[in-house]
Amino acid sequence: MGEKKKKIVKTIKVDVDKCNGCRACEVACSAFHAAPKYSSNNPARSRIRVIREPLKDIYVPVYAGENAKAECMGRDKYVIDGKEYDECAFCRASCPSRDLFKEPDSGLPLKCDMCEGEEEPLCVKWCLVDALTYEEREEEVEEEAKPEDVEIGLESLVDQYGLEKVMDTVARLSLSKKG
Ligand code: SF4
Ligand code: SF4
Repeated sequence: MGEKKKKIVKTIKVDVDKCNGCRACEVACSAFHAAPKYSSNNPARSRIRVIREPLKDIYVPVYAGENAKAECMGRDKYVIDGKEYDECAFCRASCPSRDLFKEPDSGLPLKCDMCEGEEEPLCVKWCLVDALTYEEREEEVEEEAKPEDVEIGLESLVDQYGLEKVMDTVARLSLSKKG
């Protein structure tokens, strides 16, 4: 058994009833992650996407989660207010079956990083109707991720996308962090 450590768990609560589909969260996220920071905005680069059905007044913000190397075996279908949504519509993963949550230039997966280094995530800050609420709580965990876990994650990205694409993106990300 490893030693217990305190860890801050960050969450964003989404109130779909308050979301009006304005997409300010997408703009803010993509601008924050542009290189250099705030130099451009493009919702296709955003780590939050709003699934929209304006005629039915349905808007569902979805955050980019883990990258899935392969398509999953099963599919979910959702019916909301009588409208049936595409399979995979609300999935958080970047995966081979669709373009959502992939960087348009490189095809590399996008994942929400909670706007690392900022006091409050940008999407939360720019959601003027408070559909997004940022929360932090403390939890006890067994131990930190081991360095080999990080290596395995990198290896799988290199396998999937090739070393050059991964290195390009790492270089761009480190430039944007410095900027
Ligand atoms: S928390 Fe930051 S990285 Fe995550 S979706 Fe919101 S703006 Fe993007
Ligand atoms: S900024 Fe808020 S209201 Fe606008 S689309 Fe995003 S979550 Fe919805």
